[in-house]
Amino acid sequence: PTARRVSSIASRLPGTNRLGFQPSLALSDRMEQILIIGSGLAGYTLAREIRGIDTHIPLTLITADGGDFYSKPMLSTALSDGKTPADLVNTPPQGMRERLDMTLLTRQRVTAVLPGEKQVITQQGAQHYSKLVLALGALPIVPPMRGDAVDERLVINNLDDYTRFREQLPGAPAHIALIGPGLIGCEFANDLLRSGYPVSLIGPDPYPISSLLPQSTAEALQQAMQAAGAEWHLRQTAAIMDRNGSGYRLTLTDAQEIDCDLVLSAVGLRPDTTLATEAGLPVNRGIITDRFLQTGNPHIYALGDCAEVDGRNRPYVMPIMHSARALAKTLTGQPTEVVYPAMPVIIKTPLHPVVVLPPEPGTSGDWDSEIDAQGTLCRFISDDGHLKGFALSGDRVDQKQALLRSLS
Ligand code: FAD
Repeated sequence: PTARRVSSIASRLPGTNRLGFQPSLALSDRMEQILIIGSGLAGYTLAREIRGIDTHIPLTLITADGGDFYSKPMLSTALSDGKTPADLVNTPPQGMRERLDMTLLTRQRVTAVLPGEKQVITQQGAQHYSKLVLALGALPIVPPMRGDAVDERLVINNLDDYTRFREQLPGAPAHIALIGPGLIGCEFANDLLRSGYPVSLIGPDPYPISSLLPQSTAEALQQAMQAAGAEWHLRQTAAIMDRNGSGYRLTLTDAQEIDCDLVLSAVGLRPDTTLATEAGLPVNRGIITDRFLQTGNPHIYALGDCAEVDGRNRPYVMPIMHSARALAKTLTGQPTEVVYPAMPVIIKTPLHPVVVLPPEPGTSGDWDSEIDAQGTLCRFISDDGHLKGFALSGDRVDQKQALLRSLS
């Protein structure tokens, strides 16, 4: 607390301590003010990792949402697990404030980053930083559609969205339309099916989760979900969403009509780069960082779904854990590059479980598939004969560790 008081006074009188003297090196180290924007897994994991190393360094976290600590992956399994949105909250903001001994400002949106002044601007005023971490997450992509109910499509990317979805979800067996047969769309569809809701999945893809899965694994999942009541409308998109009685009518690009009670849009997420772009930081798909998570400005770092680390956006939990651990060391005086191990993605579709480790982008080779009643086992073999990725489904998912050991 003393260090924090000195730091806030010193931030008003740059270069001096509260007695007006030049601070010693040790004291100036103590005056570092780390500011994190975002209370998702990235922001909170980083704060926890920093506190694991340094219990004194002044830490402030500003977030646009309510600051509840929750596990976002559980949003797509909560319904069939019998959990309400409130059940998903692991620790409320006051608990996080105390546990991490930090200043936590909730429901405050940062509207600008001023790298020259080392300040961020919120609706409540300016905040100084010595080191700034952008942990801003990603924003749902909303595809263009027409119709008088198009604004009533729901997206789920945080606890507030999820609470709204649960408030609006009619009782089973209401019919739910899911636009986007990707990973998150399939997980929500699976959760709804297991809870007694028939679902229609719509998207331009030739098969589900086509950006990650080989065709045979995807088709095994598609069949299992179909057997549980999913209707697939692939290779086309929803063009119009109109009101229809107490529900909705979707018109697809092939003129087919689907009547439903609720429409969920899950067509993908794009890294939130708005603040970084406006601050003049280099941005590509995500906010560009090196392996130290440092952006184009030496005092600003980016972490989690908003970041593009060494050329790749990795919007999953495991990369966040590895990145946060490395960044906490860097920010506390031990510069550390993040190194990612092979990180398979577990797709939470208990109707037909799937685990996939896609090959690194640019790896040339082919999928080799074995399919039987147990599920699928697909290996991605590079042109020079090495195992570079895999996809397992059904009862075959328990071969994950063996395949991880066989990677070369
Ligand atoms: P977010 O959780 O989006 O946090 C961003 C934070 O930034 C929020 O607190 C937001 O309020 C704040 N913010 C944004 N802009 C501002 C601003 N201007 N001012 C102040 N605050 C701001 N990954 C897996 O590995 N396994 C899974 O099984 C899995 N399942 C998933 C299921 C679902 C339904 C979803 C949506 C994602 C899933 N993911 C999964 C992905 C994983 O959850 C994300 O990679 C991770 O949660 C992203 O964390 P984050 O902190 O980067 O972003």
